[in-house]
Amino acid sequence: MAISSWPVRLVLLLLGGATFEASARWWCSEHRYHHRYVDTNRDPYGINKGFWYAHIGWLIARRDREIGFENVKDLDKDPLILWQHRYYLPLAILFCFGLPTGIAALWGDPWGGLVVAGFARLVCVQHFTWCINSVAHTFGRQTYSDRHSAKDSGLMAFFTYGEGYHNFHHEFPSDYRNGHRWYHWDPAKWLIRCLAFLRLSRGLRQTEREKILQARLLMERKRMTERLAVHTAALPMAAEVIDHALAHLQSAASRWMALKAEYAQLKRTGLQSIADRVNELRREMHQARREFRRAISTWKLLIRQPLPVM
Ligand SMILES: [Zn+2]
Ligand SMILES: [Zn+2]
Repeated sequence: MAISSWPVRLVLLLLGGATFEASARWWCSEHRYHHRYVDTNRDPYGINKGFWYAHIGWLIARRDREIGFENVKDLDKDPLILWQHRYYLPLAILFCFGLPTGIAALWGDPWGGLVVAGFARLVCVQHFTWCINSVAHTFGRQTYSDRHSAKDSGLMAFFTYGEGYHNFHHEFPSDYRNGHRWYHWDPAKWLIRCLAFLRLSRGLRQTEREKILQARLLMERKRMTERLAVHTAALPMAAEVIDHALAHLQSAASRWMALKAEYAQLKRTGLQSIADRVNELRREMHQARREFRRAISTWKLLIRQPLPVM
C-alpha cells in the first residue's frame, strides 16, 4: 500500500472532513467491505439491492448494519487516523462549513461562502461520490472483467477525478491508478505521482501491462464468442480465427515486454562492454513493438467487423 508522509496525511485527513463522508477509518472500512463482498448482501452499498439503494439508500440502512473495524487494523496503527476519527464531527464542521465561510468573509461575503462553497459544494461532492456506487456499477463498459458489476466510464471519470474507471479499479484494486493509460483523465493518479516524485509518498503499486492486456483480451474474446453464438454455423471456423489472432497477439505482447524489460535492465548497468547488446536489443525491441502493434490492429479489426447475416 502506498504510504504518505505525515504532513500529507494530515492535510488529506483535514480536507477529507470537508466532504462530510465520515472519518477516514470508517470510510476505508466500508470501502474494503465493498470490495470484498461486492454485489452481495454484505456489500455496504450493493447494487444488487437497486440503483437508489446503492446511491443513497444505504446511508439510511447502514444504521442497522453491524459496523466493525476489524478490516482496518493496519490503519489503526496511525495516530493521525485515530485522531481524525475521534474528533471527526468538530473537524468536519470546521473544514466543511467554517473554512469556506471564513475565507469568503475576507471579502465581506460570509453567507455566500457558507451557501455556495459550503452547502452547494457539499451536495455536488457527495452525489458524485455516491455515483461511483450507483452509476459506475450500472452504466459503462466491463473492460477487464464481468465477475463484478463495476463499469468503466470516461464521463464518470471526468466528474470524479478518475474514479469512473471503476471496472479497472475493482479488477486491480491495489493499483494506485484508476485510469492506467497516460491519457486517462485521473487527477488523483497525477497527484499521487507528484507526491511520489517529491518523495512525499512511496510504495506505489502498479499492475504489469501484460496482465492488464491479458484481462482485456480475454473479455473481448468472450464478448466476440457471445456475439458469434447466434451464428452457430460460422462458429467453429470463426472461433479458430479468433484463437489464432489472440495467441499471436499474446506472444507478440510477451516478446515485446520481455525485450523491453531486458533492455531497461541492461541500460541501467550502463557498461561499455554490453553496449552492442543494448543496441541489438533496441533493434529487436522496436521490431517486436511493430509486430505487437500489427497484431493489435488485426485483433481490433477482427472483433469490430460486422457479423454475416445468416
Ligand atoms: Zn476501491
Ligand atoms: Zn465499486
